[in-house]
Amino acid sequence: MSASPSPAILWFRNDLRLADNPALHAASEGEVLPVYVLDDAAAGRWAAGGAGRWWLHYSLEALAAALKEKGAELLLLRGEAATLIPQLAQKIGASAVHACSLIAPWARERDAAIAKAMEQAGGELVLHNPFLTTPEAIRTGQGKPYSVYTPFANAVMKLGDPPPAIPAPKRLDGVKPPVKGETLAQLGLLPSKPVPDWAAAFNEMWEPGEAGAHRQLDRFLEDALADYPAGRNRPGEDGSSRLSPHLHWGEVSPRQVWHAVRQRKAPATATDTYLKEIVWREFSHSILWHQPELPDKPLHAEYGHFPYRRDPKAQKAWQQGRTGYPIVDAGMRQLWQHGWMHNRVRMIVASVFIKHLLQPWQDGEAWFWDTLVDADLGNNSFNWQWVAGCGADASPFFRVFNPVLQGEKFDADGAYVRTFVPELAKLPDRWLHRPWEAPADVLRGAGVTLGRDYPEPIIDHATGRARALEALATMKAQA
Ligand code: FAD
Repeated sequence: MSASPSPAILWFRNDLRLADNPALHAASEGEVLPVYVLDDAAAGRWAAGGAGRWWLHYSLEALAAALKEKGAELLLLRGEAATLIPQLAQKIGASAVHACSLIAPWARERDAAIAKAMEQAGGELVLHNPFLTTPEAIRTGQGKPYSVYTPFANAVMKLGDPPPAIPAPKRLDGVKPPVKGETLAQLGLLPSKPVPDWAAAFNEMWEPGEAGAHRQLDRFLEDALADYPAGRNRPGEDGSSRLSPHLHWGEVSPRQVWHAVRQRKAPATATDTYLKEIVWREFSHSILWHQPELPDKPLHAEYGHFPYRRDPKAQKAWQQGRTGYPIVDAGMRQLWQHGWMHNRVRMIVASVFIKHLLQPWQDGEAWFWDTLVDADLGNNSFNWQWVAGCGADASPFFRVFNPVLQGEKFDADGAYVRTFVPELAKLPDRWLHRPWEAPADVLRGAGVTLGRDYPEPIIDHATGRARALEALATMKAQA
């Protein structure tokens, strides 16, 4: 069966699937040893956070079972991949290690070191592209990377549909692991203090793994794609695809999603609007590729002087969903309970954090990193910089969201707030997003005493807005 003279290593990273996996496709031409390495040291502060680790545990479990069914055992290792991968290659006499490329700067550095080590040993690290495009391929007429989304998206759309997805291999010729690996439990990815288990509701919400990704994709195509342009802005409904964790962990490829959406033959505006979101993902990854400082430093250097006022008490109130703004609190509690938050609400909570509370965007980014099941270095840092006004094609800082009006517009019937802020559930719609303005008898009737059952706003909107604009002026004066 084997056309290849030596076995290959298939190194799974953020591509935990069998179908449309170009690295698997290449590695499985002959004998193959699939491996996953938990390498927190190389990732440093960007090692997967708590919610991401929960996801990874179940995704690896599903992947190992799927590989086993095809005839291969998944070897789980923990430690420095830069040492372990070349060692493993040497042990089984593999001349090639196949993997899908990663965008994170720390991972690129590590890949460069492994490629060198492999080369010195007479082998190679072969990286395959898991994106729709490659960050190098989409460039302006002057050969520069795009820094504005619309022309980038136009260039991607102009390429037409991507090549068809590659089917999963029928069988794998698995190599018996030459070393004893860790068990999944030994990797210790699940919350170590199960009481109270903060991830309890994740199990009801999510089905990590390739099969779960396809079930979620099918549900979206069936129930929500046709109304996506409007539905995606209503956090109280299942109007978006919720594919972000599946895409981040690579349980489904953007190419598979692209073709599935096209084949559904939904109204053109729905198909286009959705595919352009997939292109936002490509854009943020392209920005991270070309500007690896994205997770840490503002892309517009003047924002390095922005007069943030770090305030642990305000940050805690925000993290716990106790700011007194119902839409913000609902979002932050959804994040804690489900490891995910609706996009519209992510924008609102980030805006309040940075603008009303004057907290450094990097602190909000770090909280999201730990609590999102879809925490993704490209998407997270790109979007935090977007809200902070300092990133690529960013929203201007002076546009300060009003959390009351945002709530009233996008959660008009209060379905979202009532789900995640149940103490306000009995308030009539009219007051739901501004409980502090409700007459005393309305509050009494709803069983709400402000300051006891639910906080007063952490800062008044007009005051917060004026303070944010003042801070912006201070920064500009210094620049
Ligand atoms: P859908 O509306 O169904 O969109 C489909 C896919 O397109 C998403 O799964 C995602 O892969 C991509 N996409 C959609 N919106 C964006 C966007 N603005 N930027 C980049 N890609 C996008 N997304 C993450 O995947 N990981 C993150 O860590 C992350 N952090 C964010 C932080 C902030 C402050 C903000 C404002 C947004 C962040 N996003 C992040 C983007 C977006 O909120 C999520 O991708 C989206 O909410 C996921 O839900 P969905 O799959 O239902 O999206």
